[in-house]
Amino acid sequence: MTQQPRHVAVIGHGMVGARFVEEVARRDPDGRRVRLTVVGAEAERPYNRILLPEVVTGRLDLDDLALPEADSAAVTVRRGVAATAVDPAARRVALDDGTGLDYDELVLATGARAAFPPVAGLSEDDGAPAPGVTALRGVEDCRRLMSLVRPGAPAVVLGGGVLGLEAARALSEGGVRVSVVESSPWLMRRQIDQAAASILSERLTAIGIAVHSWRVAARWLPGTGLELDDGRVLAGDALIVTAGVRARTELAAGAGLAVEHGVVVDDALTTADPRIHAIGDCAQHARGGAGLVQPGWEQAAVLADLLTGTAPGARYRGVRPVTRLKAEGIELASLGDADADGTAETVTVSDPHGGRYAKLSVRGDRVVGAILLGFPDSAATIAQLYDQDAPVPSDRLALLLGAARPEPRIADQAGPALVCRCNGVSREQLEEAWLDGARTRQTLAEQTRATTGCGGCVRDVNALLAGWNNERPAPAR
Ligand SMILES: Cc1cc2nc3c(=O)[nH]c(=O)nc-3n(C[C@H](O)[C@H](O)[C@H](O)COP(=O)(O)OP(=O)(O)OC[C@H]3O[C@@H](n4cnc5c(N)ncnc54)[C@H](O)[C@@H]3O)c2cc1C
Repeated sequence: MTQQPRHVAVIGHGMVGARFVEEVARRDPDGRRVRLTVVGAEAERPYNRILLPEVVTGRLDLDDLALPEADSAAVTVRRGVAATAVDPAARRVALDDGTGLDYDELVLATGARAAFPPVAGLSEDDGAPAPGVTALRGVEDCRRLMSLVRPGAPAVVLGGGVLGLEAARALSEGGVRVSVVESSPWLMRRQIDQAAASILSERLTAIGIAVHSWRVAARWLPGTGLELDDGRVLAGDALIVTAGVRARTELAAGAGLAVEHGVVVDDALTTADPRIHAIGDCAQHARGGAGLVQPGWEQAAVLADLLTGTAPGARYRGVRPVTRLKAEGIELASLGDADADGTAETVTVSDPHGGRYAKLSVRGDRVVGAILLGFPDSAATIAQLYDQDAPVPSDRLALLLGAARPEPRIADQAGPALVCRCNGVSREQLEEAWLDGARTRQTLAEQTRATTGCGGCVRDVNALLAGWNNERPAPAR
């Protein structure tokens, strides 16, 4: 078999493009099979954009967000360069610096951009955000946001989904007086039901965030605030637009590939052109994944298996969605479909006074969905059951209230429980790394990648570490 490496071009050096490069380098460290060229429109080295709200709170610096990069002579990275067109017949990509890139295989990892709703005054004629307006998708947005807000001054967040609420909470932690406007009847409508959202709204109000659900924004008035459809004006020096994202599909559409809301791919992450692949937020797979990093990283690993020839049978099978709101003081997790088209058995606990709500939907003794507000321990247990498609204990109420531990396999310290969903790291793998000498969160992260995704498992990893470091003698090896 010929040893000439094939040339794989990657467009987009964001969270998923960078992971793909890393996965290829792990499988083919000397570049014997694959030579990679990555072009990324952003000037920065790849970073974890999920943690941008942590920069807004001041807990992290932008430098802390850097993602690992493959150190391989077989990888060429071109930062600050954008692809402008793909010619599938010539197998060539045109770049905005006037050069071009020939490929054997092409990977689109162009992600998504913030969607701006059609509200008067949000954008300039050239499409740039109007004065006082920003999205929160990239480093530049984050810098702009921080230049617009000040402690004690008002700001408005347009969009009460997960990102909007995380941004609102981050700003309120810094003393900004925040209002959230959501055009749907309730907050986080894609993840939680109305009863949970009503309790969530009360919790937000209690920490100083004003919530305006089912209110349509009419006009942004720079220097004044956001006018609503009922004529009220919410004061705001800044408007943070978190009203959803749109997959970047222009290159694929221009190349004649099938595009719906994303670039359509099959289980091998291949588009309508067998030499062009798409992964991450720009891709549309029949069983979902766009909008979350874990499925994108899984896609990156599958495609690396395929393009390096490491596992020609590798396939992406879709996602079991779990969403955690990362907002200081609010523990909210949502998984699967808690309403489950009315065919599931459902147990609900509503405690508005305590600011808590829990709903568990089970079909054939398997979790099909759950909403858990203020129940962090049962959220962790139920997420494990869901991940492993394991049977739920017969006392569902006890499970919801955190009083029931399911079968020992889950609770067992040596069991296979998944701790870091983003990177698929189990408790067992963490323990192995600990036994091999990783005694801090940072060294565990370096060895296993745990905690380097959404950060939702930091608490669990810290707890495991504290237990191991305090309770066990140092291992002999
Ligand atoms: C604030 C925030 C919080 C989030 N929280 C979570 C969370 O808690 N959990 C979760 O799972 N997900 C979360 N997400 C979503 C997560 O960040 C995305 O799913 C992930 O970044 C997708 O990675 P990607 O590489 O597909 O896209 P991106 O990270 O957007 O990267 C795409 C890259 O491609 C580049 N690009 C685009 N077009 C071109 C071109 N023509 N030429 C060259 N380069 C190009 C872009 O500049 C960009 O750098 C969050 C996102 C944000 C912004």
